[in-house]
Amino acid sequence: FISVPIVYLSAETDVAAKLEAMRLGGDDFISKPVDPSFLISTVRTRTLRHQHIRQHIVRDGLTGLLNHTRFKEQINIEITRARRLQQPLSLAMIDIDHFKHVNDTYGHPAGDRVLRLLSRFLERRLRCTDVCGRFGGEEFGVLLTGADAEQAAKVMDALREDFSQLEQTAEQQAFHVTFSCGIADLSAATDTTQLIRQADRALYRAKHGGRNQVRIATLFND
Ligand code: GH3
Ligand code: MG
Ligand code: MG
Repeated sequence: FISVPIVYLSAETDVAAKLEAMRLGGDDFISKPVDPSFLISTVRTRTLRHQHIRQHIVRDGLTGLLNHTRFKEQINIEITRARRLQQPLSLAMIDIDHFKHVNDTYGHPAGDRVLRLLSRFLERRLRCTDVCGRFGGEEFGVLLTGADAEQAAKVMDALREDFSQLEQTAEQQAFHVTFSCGIADLSAATDTTQLIRQADRALYRAKHGGRNQVRIATLFND
């Protein structure tokens, strides 16, 4: 309940008791009698703030990877760092192939397991300075620090190949899952938005080129 707002509503008048209640984790203490509009306004404000904070909580619930908002912040940070150190930086966008089919055939829980497996796989196989995030749905991002697009493509292609060989299971059925990947580095983009857009375009080409492949963004992508 660490992020759940707690508001006391009580006829307690003893200040020490109220203070003790707040010390135990209350965000507010409203004494009765209370004007209903005051109570509603207090609860509404707390609720809105809670929703806002939750969106910004760092980790994605299913996979434990950085969530969309936090991952984009990390791209900003790494771009700044790469510029300062004059080192290359690549962004790889991953999208699982025919994932709808996985859900439809083996069920949503099996789909969730694939998402978790891919997340663990990426974390295990990448350098500890590389950063993974879940962009949303079955889309993931990987920031490869110190690697230009060519180097990142080699890494990601090896991961793509190995992941495609992993046996996934759902109720005694075995199946395989592949992903497509688009890569852009700082020579193709100057800020976070551009870097994502370029990697996305390369991903689009990987999908249209037949899926289960890695493509690098070029300035003549489209
Ligand atoms: P493509 O090869 O073109 O990427 O096809 P696709 O089927 O992977 O793509 P599409 O965008 O049509 O479908 C994505 C599916 O991912 C649909 C959606 O239900 C599923 N999905 C999104 N988030 C989750 C999730 O958290 N868990 C599960 N099990 N499925 C999810
Ligand atoms: Mg998708
Ligand atoms: Mg997909």
